[in-house]
Amino acid sequence: MNCLARRFIRYAEIDTRSDPASFSFPSTPGQTDLLKLLRDELLEMGVEGVHLEQGGILYGSVPGGEEGVTIGLIAHVDTAPAVSGHGVRPVVHREWDGSPIHIAEGVVLDPGECPQMEPYRGGAIITSDGKTLLGADDKAGAAIIMEAVRRMLGNPGTKRPRIVVAFTSDEEIGRGMDNFSTARFGADFAYTVDGEQPGSVDSATFNACRADWRITGIEVHPGSACGRLVNPVRIAAELISMLKPEEMPENSSGEEGFEYPMEVSGDTEAAAVQMIIRDFTTEGLAARVHRMHSLHRFLSEKHDRAVIELEIRNQYSNPRDTLRADRRLVDYAMLGTERAGITPTETSIRGGTDGSRLSFMGVPTVNLPTGGGLFHSRREWLAVQGLEKSLEVLLNTIFVWGENLDG
Ligand SMILES: [Zn+2]
Repeated sequence: MNCLARRFIRYAEIDTRSDPASFSFPSTPGQTDLLKLLRDELLEMGVEGVHLEQGGILYGSVPGGEEGVTIGLIAHVDTAPAVSGHGVRPVVHREWDGSPIHIAEGVVLDPGECPQMEPYRGGAIITSDGKTLLGADDKAGAAIIMEAVRRMLGNPGTKRPRIVVAFTSDEEIGRGMDNFSTARFGADFAYTVDGEQPGSVDSATFNACRADWRITGIEVHPGSACGRLVNPVRIAAELISMLKPEEMPENSSGEEGFEYPMEVSGDTEAAAVQMIIRDFTTEGLAARVHRMHSLHRFLSEKHDRAVIELEIRNQYSNPRDTLRADRRLVDYAMLGTERAGITPTETSIRGGTDGSRLSFMGVPTVNLPTGGGLFHSRREWLAVQGLEKSLEVLLNTIFVWGENLDG
């Protein structure tokens, strides 16, 4: 085992599952344990400005680097709440021969379902023991960043930009950026290391907002309701029936957007409908928001005795628009991938990441690979070669930035 894989295993063994029902930051104490371990390791390496915020974010600045541009590197320490992360015991399957890996009774990692595993035949694959997830998402990212920092400090002669790092908590429950300070972070551009296989440079995500509807009616005993009752339950149902079925997540793919009613609650007094709206283009998102407002006007006029409120809030934005103006973040990552001997592809994610929220907050961010797959499951895997390649991609990318400083 090399030190990168050993480092990953050390982090994976700490239970950092996030908890959406918790109101604390971070949502679970295990995340603080890992953040403290990372803090101590950063301090030991001589990283400056190391600061663990109460809110569950660890910042640091790698000494050295040329003036001009500051690149941030980000990974999240939590694991998905859907699968247990308690007592993770990483198992190393050495010299994997390409056949299905029997992780545990009823837990089989079948390469037939996972063609991304193919290049790693003959190498080592890490999984859990089948009782938990592995947590490569995103402890592989954390290990890659820590190892990259160690190598940069070990080779002070290599020309590179200024580098800052941040480790966040509760990404899996959408709170990763809630307490994030772009001022403290200090990066002009950033890379999250939270993707899958080397080769992909994730430069696009959805633009996202949520629409919260509140409908207040007039409650009257049904026996004497004629001409008087205004029933919010029926208005909520009418609202949902007016959404286009072909623009729902279950009927869209690729770069198609959607409107997704996620939660309905209420009674004859008041009802609430929560929706999320997603689109890859800003114009597309604006058109969907416009449509929400039209629906609101229509329903308010039709049911003029009800009070219908609509609140729309932005959640995150597709970094692609920002990246069009300055292609360096993507282009250098593509070049960094090529130098690691892999054909790069620019890819998009049908979702959002810490990076899309960070882009929305003014720091354009692109996502880089980790070498892992089947995240959020008991069959989650990490190829040791993929992990090493991902580190190589990250370091090469940083050095390409270094070569292109001051024009
Ligand atoms: Zn992740």
